Amino acid sequence: MKRDYYEVLGVERNTSEQEIKKAYRKLARQYHPDVNPGDKEAEEKFKEITDAYEVLSDSEKRARYDQFGHSDPGMGGMGGGFGDMGGFGDIFDMFFGGGGQRRGGPQRGSDLRYSMTLTFEEAAFGTEKEIQIPRDETCTECQGSGAAPGTHPTTCSQCHGSGQVKATQRTPFGHIQTARTCPTCQGEGRTISSPCSTCHGQGKVRKVKTLKINVPEGSEDGLNLRLSGDGEAGSKGGPPGDLYIVLNVKPHKFFERDGNDVYCEIPITFIQAALGAEIDIPTLDGLVKMKIPEGTQTSTVFRLKGHGIPRRRGTGRGDQHVRVVLTTPTKLNEKQKKLLREFGEVTSEQQQMGKKSLFEKFKENLRDAMG
Ligand SMILES: [Zn+2]
Ligand SMILES: [Zn+2]
Repeated sequence: MKRDYYEVLGVERNTSEQEIKKAYRKLARQYHPDVNPGDKEAEEKFKEITDAYEVLSDSEKRARYDQFGHSDPGMGGMGGGFGDMGGFGDIFDMFFGGGGQRRGGPQRGSDLRYSMTLTFEEAAFGTEKEIQIPRDETCTECQGSGAAPGTHPTTCSQCHGSGQVKATQRTPFGHIQTARTCPTCQGEGRTISSPCSTCHGQGKVRKVKTLKINVPEGSEDGLNLRLSGDGEAGSKGGPPGDLYIVLNVKPHKFFERDGNDVYCEIPITFIQAALGAEIDIPTLDGLVKMKIPEGTQTSTVFRLKGHGIPRRRGTGRGDQHVRVVLTTPTKLNEKQKKLLREFGEVTSEQQQMGKKSLFEKFKENLRDAMG
């Protein structure tokens, strides 16, 4: 495609004629073929800046360019042109750019993204949330046609609905017939004589839509929920885009999640660990009683079957894994300390460790070796 003429000359759109001349002179000196013999790139560049200058230095052409851009019928085709350049034809543009692409066909609407924040539990068990999204919707007044009710868009009289018109281009190879975007309908193939007053002929209106979103159970952080057809409205009868709900799950202060399993840590006293106990464990289903057997070591992991996250597709739930962590008592009063000391005195090292001491093992091995 052709680069913007102002961009080519490196000037602002509102720049003065004087500045345009200056910019062109500077670039022309740099890229002139006489200065760069045999340099194809410089030659292309020189053609480009000359084209741009030809239009922007002529106030009438410049005004048309500002209004229509490169699709102006008066430009590049029969009327304007590169004739002055003697041989430097706009060949590239003719084959790849200028040929009128039909812009007016049905176009699918854009996809939309919406970021939704959920609590740990909402994601685990699913929830229904109402969201509000601003989006383009098909105008109900004109059913998207853009024409005022009771009227219809009419087939463009210049291009007869094709959106393209033939143009003759003069090239170093002679005159060539090309197709370009129809200037009357801007390639749409139809014109609207009385536009719909609600959408101003656009066929679409901006609305804030309230939608109920069903978040399925077992949803995870980062999951995308696709709502087919709930994106922006399409154009000219094209289908709407899709809406993607991106889930952002807040961390839980007590649980961690891995897949459908839930992990937590529970502090227990060494007395509970030593004697065994039944303790209350918080789960996603409320408090659940869990038995700790006598002589439990710190960091032992117990499993509460079926207290994890519901599986998203299919049945059943994950498990909850409970790691018990022994806590050493602090802030003991004198009586408690005395009891512990007495306990210490009647307890051998062997009993406390729950296994044979290294010295005992050594003695046993020695006995075995002696026969
Ligand atoms: Zn037309
Ligand atoms: Zn309308």
